[in-house]
Amino acid sequence: MTPGHLGIGMTSQRTRERLIQRLREEGIRDLSVLDRIRNTPRHLFVDEALASRAYEDTALPIGNGQTISQPYIVARMTEALLEGGPLENILEIGTGSGYQTAVLAPLVRRVYTSERVKVLLDQARRRFQSLNIRNVVTKHTDGGLGLPEYAPYDGIIVTAAPEGIPRVLVEQLRPGGRMVLPIGQRDEQALVRVTRTADGYQHEMLQRVVFVPLLGGVC
Ligand code: SAH
Repeated sequence: MTPGHLGIGMTSQRTRERLIQRLREEGIRDLSVLDRIRNTPRHLFVDEALASRAYEDTALPIGNGQTISQPYIVARMTEALLEGGPLENILEIGTGSGYQTAVLAPLVRRVYTSERVKVLLDQARRRFQSLNIRNVVTKHTDGGLGLPEYAPYDGIIVTAAPEGIPRVLVEQLRPGGRMVLPIGQRDEQALVRVTRTADGYQHEMLQRVVFVPLLGGVC
């Protein structure tokens, strides 16, 4: 390795630690989640031109009008999903860059992830392969309908915002299962955790957020 490469590596190690420190200050407590953020190379999930900003705590464009989520939000959603005990099978809606998937996958048994934009999904698939992430099943489909073929799920994570809590998704949770999702209109959304109960569901508001909208159809 040339000294130049070493230099870049060290800088990014420091920048990653700075990001972890910031997430701690913002209230992320789960050490396994912080560890995943530390060890997931976010610069490989954005365009090379944006790689130098990959460890800033901001959302960044990934093409097709979509964004890679802010690290704090990825950490918060992962923590909210895992709080209350380990989960095995997870459904993710909105693979996007694949970053949230890559953070989550080693913490659970299997992630089924769906994306409606094929070019984004193909890029994400290549990233999972090159990072040797093997417990992810990808599907090019309208995830708003869930993935009934693998249901029920212990957890569902939605990374684009529907206007309300989609009943079809609640129905794909096993009793006791949890779903973390943003709901609401553009610029006016809440992050919500839904827990399926024997006779319906309960939900808790976690915080205000801004996500791209959940859209119908595939492209
Ligand atoms: N977790 C992703 C966030 C990507 S933004 C990341 O960290 O990169 C949300 C993604 O949801 C976009 O890629 C968008 O195309 C996708 N999306 C929106 N509506 C969808 C739907 N109905 N089914 C599947 N994916 C959807």
